[in-house]
Amino acid sequence: MAQHQVEGAIPVALTTVDKIVNWGRSNSLWVLTYGLACCGIEMMASGASRYDFDRFGTIFRASPRQAEVMVIAGTLTKKHAEFIRRLYDQMAEPKWVISMGSCANTGGMFNTYATVQGADRVVPVDLYLPGCAPRPETLQYAVMMLQKKIRREPANRNRNVKQKRFV
Ligand code: SF4
Repeated sequence: MAQHQVEGAIPVALTTVDKIVNWGRSNSLWVLTYGLACCGIEMMASGASRYDFDRFGTIFRASPRQAEVMVIAGTLTKKHAEFIRRLYDQMAEPKWVISMGSCANTGGMFNTYATVQGADRVVPVDLYLPGCAPRPETLQYAVMMLQKKIRREPANRNRNVKQKRFV
């Protein structure tokens, strides 16, 4: 936001619609929780009183229709891949995805027939959190990084990702 003030004149603030929209969006990120394994416990701790995500305007929701950020926390199995994609498709645009922990990022130590080797094979991921398990502070930092990313995007962002075949 640029501000220009002439002596004796009324202060004027100049900005763009993109900046106003993105400012509002980035400060009210509602999260669809997707706790799949131990990382899910760290995600739950993020919403509790010690870390208190609400103060950032980040509120956990249990419905894809009321959320714009999906946090995938834990080991994603192939049986589950179909459902995660369906819930992602039910979220309204614009939407973002955070992959939390090694299992969600790459399958982690579970290089098996049953585990998806990275959540990005099923849904487009915007941020990857390293660790096994990442602490709530890491998720908090990731949300702040996502806020920065959103503020740089055009307000009419529409990802419009086609349905991918998952493995
Ligand atoms: S990354 Fe580690 S803590 Fe997270 S779900 Fe996998 S095994 Fe559990």
